[in-house]
Order: sequence, then structure tokens, then C-alpha cells
Amino acid sequence: MTVTKNQNIDIIEQSILLGIKEFGENYAKEGVCKIQKLQKYKNIIWHFIGKIQSNKTKIVAQNFDWCQTINTEKIALLLNQYRPKNLLPINVLIQINVSKEPNKNGININEYQKLAKVISLMPNLNLRGIMAMPEIKKNIIDNNIQYKKIKIIFNQLKRKYASVDTLSLGTSFDIKKSLLAESNMIRIGRNIFNK
Ligand SMILES: *Cc1c(COP(=O)(O)O)cnc(C)c1O
Repeated sequence: MTVTKNQNIDIIEQSILLGIKEFGENYAKEGVCKIQKLQKYKNIIWHFIGKIQSNKTKIVAQNFDWCQTINTEKIALLLNQYRPKNLLPINVLIQINVSKEPNKNGININEYQKLAKVISLMPNLNLRGIMAMPEIKKNIIDNNIQYKKIKIIFNQLKRKYASVDTLSLGTSFDIKKSLLAESNMIRIGRNIFNK
């Protein structure tokens, strides 16, 4: 998936013309503005990948195909409530905070199962899997443990819910590690646009 935060409409339009179909945006209003301007292109899939605040749940539910950053029951409830009935359920990923950094988004490893259960019962949400952004640690072993934990959590979830098929893990910095952890959705910005 191509991350287009900070990229302008022209760049995104050129990307569409080159055949890219999936885009990730971090800021709700900026993302919605781009989605609306590019509406003439069909079959484009828009992912919300930024920190989601309650007061943005409505525009995310109305405009995006995916929300990858659910970390509380409250956000899940609001997205479910605001998802328009004429659209398919919004695809959602639970964001896991595997490095336990206090200022990082994501739910604690010990709490994700309860949230998954709640989401799976909501008619306007489609639980697709896990999103994570491991902290890049200097210590290789600590680093590898994080990827291993994410892989285990994803497989647990997949066994439990038939709708789960997506592990969104990896950015320009950790593509290889993420693929080794069986990621099947990497989110790339810099490596596409800065090179
Ligand atoms: C910006 C961002 C990315 C892309 O990172 P790059 O280093 O530009 O590849 C991926 N995921 C999230 C959540 C981001 O905010």
C-alpha cells in the first residue's frame, strides 16, 4: 500500500495513472479532501492509517474503505455507528502497541482479544486483522521479539475469526523483517516518493 501523507493531489493522480490502487492517509480531513477530488477514479482503495480521534470517526466512516488504527472500543462503536448503510462494512485492523511505548498508538497485547470480540459483533465493521509499527530498537534480539509477537497474535486472531486475513506490518525501514514475519500488507511512503 502506498502512503501518501504529505503528497499532493497531482502526485497521487500520477500514481493512479501508473496503476497504483491502494493509498494510505494519516490525517482525516486531508485524506477526505483527496478522496473527494479523485472520485472519478473507480476501484481505488483508501486506508486511514493515522491516529484516530473520536471527532474524526464520522468522516473516516463515511469516506475510507479501511481504518487500520482502531485501538479502543469507543472508536469501534463510533465507526460502526457512522458507517453509511449504503456502503459495505468498513474494513478494520486493530493497532497493536507491541513495544509498549507509552506515547505510541495501539492497544496493549493483553487487551486486543476483547476488542476483537467486540468488533466481530458489529455489523458495519469487518475485522480484517492487525496493524503494528514496531519500535526500531538498537538491540537486534529485542527487535526480533517484537516481530515474532506480532506474528503470533495475527495467527491467533486468524484461527478465531474467518474474516481475518491481513497483517499490516512494515514501512520503508523494515520491509524485509516484516515480510519475514509474514506481513501481507506493507505501507510504503518514502521508498516510493523520495527515490
Ligand atoms: C508514514 C507512515 C508509513 C510510511 O512510512 P515510510 O517510512 O514513508 O515508508 C507507514 N505507516 C504509517 C502508520 C505511517 O504513518
